[in-house]
Amino acid sequence: MQNLYALSYLVSAVLFILSLRGLSSPVSARAGNVYGMVGMALAGVTTLFVASSPVLWLIGIAIAAGAAIGAWKAKTVAMTAMPELVAAMHSLVGLAAVLIAVAAIYHTGQSHTQVQKIELFLGAFIGAITFTASIVAWGKLSGRFASKPVRFAGQHVFNLVVFLAMLGFGGAYFVTDSHSAFLMMLVLALLLGVMVIVPIGGADMPVVVSMLNSYSGWAAAGIGFTLDNSVLIIAGACVGSSGAILSYIMCRAMNRSLVSVLLGGFGAAEGTAAGGDGAARNYKSGSPEDAAFLMSNAESVVIVPGYGLAVSRAQHALQELTTMLEEHGVKVRYAIHPVAGRMPGHMNVLLAEAEVPYDKVLEMEEINSEFSTTDVVLVIGANDVVNPAAKNDSASPIYGMPILDAYKARTVLVVKRSMSVGYAGLDNDLFYMDKTMMVFGDAKKVVEDMLHAI
Ligand code: NDP
Repeated sequence: MQNLYALSYLVSAVLFILSLRGLSSPVSARAGNVYGMVGMALAGVTTLFVASSPVLWLIGIAIAAGAAIGAWKAKTVAMTAMPELVAAMHSLVGLAAVLIAVAAIYHTGQSHTQVQKIELFLGAFIGAITFTASIVAWGKLSGRFASKPVRFAGQHVFNLVVFLAMLGFGGAYFVTDSHSAFLMMLVLALLLGVMVIVPIGGADMPVVVSMLNSYSGWAAAGIGFTLDNSVLIIAGACVGSSGAILSYIMCRAMNRSLVSVLLGGFGAAEGTAAGGDGAARNYKSGSPEDAAFLMSNAESVVIVPGYGLAVSRAQHALQELTTMLEEHGVKVRYAIHPVAGRMPGHMNVLLAEAEVPYDKVLEMEEINSEFSTTDVVLVIGANDVVNPAAKNDSASPIYGMPILDAYKARTVLVVKRSMSVGYAGLDNDLFYMDKTMMVFGDAKKVVEDMLHAI
């Protein structure tokens, strides 16, 4: 029987790995989700058999409650609120790791080897940090807490002292088996979770959420060793490493180093640094009808979607516009920046929802060389990801960030509601170029007007 359980866990682990592989491309993402769900169901059922005397009714209630809350949240969450939901979910993973560790410590008649104690210690303190840090991240992202970085004199020294004290209590537990030392270690880890996150500004929060995702995975893997549960170890390691890789990819696309994110700062100026020297600058604006005329007479149009597309939920109208332009013989493609929107893959998800064919959706590396031969670029609700300052202005905070080279196209149309700044809080030279026409309004309304005009 034991072999059967081991085999079943192995199959779940393989399904988790296939799930990650599937999720790495929009084409296979749906299949990836299915693999993940089947793997999770299999792991859950197997665990019921492996456990010595499971209290089935209690587990049943927990599963039903969790499934109901999860299904309700997934149905109702707005796409723009996704990062905060993810942060809230990570807090639960951290809490689960802490509770399992506490249960294991207090489990009567169960003594732990030295190695298990280290695993418990690691799982519990990483879980505790993840728990409180994720709650603060959720609060900052959802606007319940101020997103401004909180700093005070001696902050790093304070954090170091808390960290060392936490290690000290962990050591005391290791040597003496004292439960109170373990609990003190947990309390300090919970405090540390708050302390590490408060100096980080709202702008860097999504990277931090991805880091916390990684931590929660390592916490689960640590607990998996204690419980001698192979699937928890493998799934935890998958989550831990994929979260770390995702954080790295996001940092690279935003031209930030992980260290600078974790030390905080970038979010401090969020939303305040508009307009460069503050002098009024000239720009051209036109109507949706003008824009429609330009696009329907072009040979090629590249659409650059950004955060504003998610805000106005314009993806379905945009897909209709694409179809209509194609009926006029225009070649239309989409250009996706890796950090367009507010989470990795944000634009891909929106466009997939509107059933835009995947072969029309190109990544930055695939499309950048083609902007110079493109007639019209339609920038819709995007700002930072097409800001040429990232290339031309070495004093700009986003200097060095890779951008979509929209400024190289013959004509640039920019749909947004005003001249105000994007996420990085910076003015955008693209909006003032001779070849650029601003089309002001909510993205969905503007696209619908374009459709009528065509
Ligand atoms: P930006 O935030 O730079 O710009 C979005 C623009 O959309 C704004 O300038 C806004 O202008 C406009 N907008 C907002 N609502 C609407 C609406 N209803 N209709 C039309 N326009 C609207 O977005 P980008 O996608 O260009 O760039 C993403 C930014 O987010 C980058 O700085 C990136 O580093 C950052 N980021 C991305 C993460 C990711 O994983 N994707 C994670 C963390 C940060 P106006 O108010 O005038 O309408």
